[in-house]
Amino acid sequence: MKTTVLSHEPLPYRVLARALTAGYLLAVGLLNGFAQMAEARERVDLIVAGGMVVTMDTARHVIERGAIAVRGDTVVAVGLRSIIDQRYTSEHRIDASDGLILPGLINGHTHAPMTLFRGIADDASLQDWLQKYIFPAEARNVTPDFVTWGTRLACLEMIRSGVTTFADMYYFEDDIARAAKACGMRGILGETIIGSPAPDNKTEEQAFRYTERFVNHWRGDPLIDAAMAPHSIYTCSATLLERSARLARQHQVPILIHLAESQRERNESLARHGLTPVAYLDKLGFLGPDVIASHCIWVDADDTAILVRRQVGCVHNPSSNMQLASGVAPVPLMLASGVRLGLGTDGSAGGNHDLDLMEELSLSTQLQKVTRDDPRALNAEQALEMATIGGASALHMERRIGSLEPGKKADLIVLDLGNSDGIPMYNVYSQVVYSLRARDIRTVVIGGRAVMENRHIVTLDEGQVLERAKDYTAAIRRSLPIAR
Ligand SMILES: [Zn+2]
Repeated sequence: MKTTVLSHEPLPYRVLARALTAGYLLAVGLLNGFAQMAEARERVDLIVAGGMVVTMDTARHVIERGAIAVRGDTVVAVGLRSIIDQRYTSEHRIDASDGLILPGLINGHTHAPMTLFRGIADDASLQDWLQKYIFPAEARNVTPDFVTWGTRLACLEMIRSGVTTFADMYYFEDDIARAAKACGMRGILGETIIGSPAPDNKTEEQAFRYTERFVNHWRGDPLIDAAMAPHSIYTCSATLLERSARLARQHQVPILIHLAESQRERNESLARHGLTPVAYLDKLGFLGPDVIASHCIWVDADDTAILVRRQVGCVHNPSSNMQLASGVAPVPLMLASGVRLGLGTDGSAGGNHDLDLMEELSLSTQLQKVTRDDPRALNAEQALEMATIGGASALHMERRIGSLEPGKKADLIVLDLGNSDGIPMYNVYSQVVYSLRARDIRTVVIGGRAVMENRHIVTLDEGQVLERAKDYTAAIRRSLPIAR
């Protein structure tokens, strides 16, 4: 109808109307174009931007002025900040300017609730420490409430030192899993099976029933992998070890164990079985690509070959090994042979006194340098590998975590370079391993969720955790046979 009216109008009006229409269409077109450009920026849930990204991917890419885009719990892009900002937009941004963005650290061996026993008995041998102090203290104190508060205290310390995943072995592990998940931490959590009455399960049958319920309960959880943890070859019989491995394989869950930790363990194994601890476990059919073995100190070249062939993950714990005089793991030999090797703190009662994986980084290299009389024995990049992608490989989780790459879980930490230990910086691996400390960790993201932002722990009431830990100190002190 409008066209009909226009056709009867004088020519100048028709020209003017067409010109106005064309102008209007051009303007609308331009506006639409801008809108489409804005829409072309994909919406994501989190962008961490502005720092140097140390990816720990296969090519060891380090991106200056980098950024990471995260959707849900997964990394969708890693690259230059300018490119990430062109392609992605998010309402939640974490500013990592003047900082480093690293994959979250992996603590491959802990007994988290034992943090409440820190300092209970020091300067003792491993056997004395276990038999005279720890086992009696555990019998009197360890309950579901104890492990819950002990785990919260441990998670507080681990988050503050940049740990995003930990592998644990303890009792009432189902309660530990609940506490860890509430803290937002990722974990491979193993219910300890030991050949004597434990604080939670008094018989072998009870222990296996509990463990089956436990692994079934957590199946498919995005953060928690429930596991089985027969304690060691010196506390578990061959039958117990074989049954644990059989059950773990039936349920397709990881198996955690202490292995070749002391010279005594090796000597007793040779005397009883005519085999080294590694060869003995191999003969039992225990070793496989689902096993995570802590320590692996007293291993020779033949043992190392078995560990590689069976794809066993090993975890090195330098503080604990030094404190208990357990020995020095042949880390350079293990790495050169292709052992899956991670880094851990061990529990913070007796062996270690903290859960600070940043400290283990420098100790791991210095222990090798001094004992091998060679400053090249283990370098900073190798140490950081053990705490990130190597640790992921030791836990058989390298497809999910350990490096910052699209498709992997968004577990990352932001470290400050603005403090006195951050300046100057010539080599980023040296800086992280030898100079920076847990106090430089500013922000921790696990599965896309910031659990600590600008040093503020989001998932825990820090004051309450510390108060409850003080209450437990008094109760534990009263329970000890020897006054302390
Ligand atoms: Zn341990």
